[in-house]
Amino acid sequence: NEKDSTVVVVLGASGDLAFKKTYPALFGLYKNSFLPPNISIVGYARSSIELADFRKRVSSRIKATDQEKSLLEEFLAKCTYVSGKYDDAESFKQLNTAVDKIQSTTLGRKHRVFYMALPPSVFIPASQGLKQHVYAHDGNNRLIVEKPFGKDSESSRELATRLAENWKEDEIYRIDHYLGKEMVKNLMILRFANVFFGAIWNRQYIHNVQITFKEPIGTEGRGGYFDEFGIIRDIMQNHLLQILTIVAMEKPVTLDAEDVRNEKVKVLRAIKPLTASDVLLAQYGRSKDGKEEGYLDDKGVPKDSVTPTYAAAAFYIKNERWDGVPFILKCGKALDQQKTEIRIQFQDVPGNIYPSVMRNELVVRVQPEEAVYMKFANKQPGLSSTAVTSELDLSYARRYKDVKIPDAYESLILDVLNGDKANFVRDDELEAAWKIFTPLLHEIEGKGGAIKPEIYAFGQRAPDGLDAFVAKHGFRRDASYAWSPPKI
Ligand code: NAP
Ligand code: NAP
Repeated sequence: NEKDSTVVVVLGASGDLAFKKTYPALFGLYKNSFLPPNISIVGYARSSIELADFRKRVSSRIKATDQEKSLLEEFLAKCTYVSGKYDDAESFKQLNTAVDKIQSTTLGRKHRVFYMALPPSVFIPASQGLKQHVYAHDGNNRLIVEKPFGKDSESSRELATRLAENWKEDEIYRIDHYLGKEMVKNLMILRFANVFFGAIWNRQYIHNVQITFKEPIGTEGRGGYFDEFGIIRDIMQNHLLQILTIVAMEKPVTLDAEDVRNEKVKVLRAIKPLTASDVLLAQYGRSKDGKEEGYLDDKGVPKDSVTPTYAAAAFYIKNERWDGVPFILKCGKALDQQKTEIRIQFQDVPGNIYPSVMRNELVVRVQPEEAVYMKFANKQPGLSSTAVTSELDLSYARRYKDVKIPDAYESLILDVLNGDKANFVRDDELEAAWKIFTPLLHEIEGKGGAIKPEIYAFGQRAPDGLDAFVAKHGFRRDASYAWSPPKI
């Protein structure tokens, strides 16, 4: 409604996430006219910062072209800042006074969005303070929560219970920013809007699925934070598992958030909890040329840490569609490249008469260089009759030249403003996800002696043991295939 107003309160507004993601995403929406009318953004944190300095800090992380400069000024004028604590009623009352004042002339309803860009240690007191003192009584209230959602089943349940004391599940938006990525959002359309994919999307035609996250950087001085979590909690249990659920779930009855999430929960519940024999764990050491430090050289990391910086795990989904098909999730730091991809490898051709043919693959390249490509057999052009692997290639940079792919946070904040929860993690989804990982995490970190990871060199393609691991689960690679990128 045109007469309504919305205030977005960013808690932890002095922090990394707020400057790096939240404010730039809000500006991205503003400049494309996707924010609702009568919107204001109130930053909140303990640090005392002058408004002019705060706006300067916000704008320093926003890329605006010359034409966008005036829009940026307009946007900054909507941003204010209140300083206060996270566990103090008086502070929250002051915040409420500031928000009330902004909304005092509103003729319609007064909505509030609370974005908690805060360390988990203050989630609970902050969510209580907001409910008690800043909650809108004539409008919608939405609470955005960032990972980590606990460290295992028990701590996650505790967090969920404490949040639920003040907030209804319907009001909570748990962000997994992978769900805001363009190619992850594309998965449902690929699967459910293409009759040919729909027909072959099962154990009869699909041999194995690999979902891979790689980055070429190490912990870069943030090893202290990372060491508490490890790569399984940081990437696999949330981002990659979310991708897995969308690849594997049944078609939802409608696109309604609860219909979609019901299907996701069903898949998660059909996955057998992991044990140590299902995983490969590794940790990066120095690069071969000695230029890059190893994980244990990071000052924040205990010298005897066995925290994995690389993990590969095979998941099996015990249902009619997927029984026996391995879903191999792989993620790691300090590798040869940056990429996130989904690689679906199909079964061998039955009664094959072309021995040189390799299995078909469908690859969804999530980032960078978004693409969907299909590796398929084709006649070697010319007089030869040999079958070779070629590709059907939908590279976004070529096909959608003038389209800017929005940042995941832009897409998700827009969903929050629209009240669409399909791309947010529901409480029972989280519970089911932790159930798969908790026994393994306890086993890895167990008192009976933690499991020692294999060491790989900084910059390596993968730990030495990986090729045997994926081969054990049936993945076969066509080493003869080489792709030559077309000129864009
Ligand atoms: P951060 O910079 O460490 O913290 C945000 C703000 O919280 C700080 O500016 C600080 O503000 C306040 N704060 C920090 N430590 C505190 C403490 N011990 N007690 C009370 N207040 C404290 O964190 P962040 O990187 O922005 O991340 C915020 C949340 O998003 C975390 O839950 C994180 O796990 C999650 N997250 C971050 C990223 C990222 O890229 N950074 C990505 C995904 C998820 P004042 O001191 O001014 O109050
Ligand atoms: P690839 O790089 O051959 O990788 C395929 C799989 O084999 C991955 O799981 C990879 O594991 C593994 N692998 C890679 N090198 C290996 C090695 N030396 N030994 C054992 N295993 C190895 O993938 P591709 O699909 O053939 O593509 C090659 C390149 O061409 C990529 O950069 C891709 O983006 C590009 N390409 C683009 C298009 C397009 O249409 N846009 C089409 C085709 C290819 P890890 O992931 O763990 O390293």
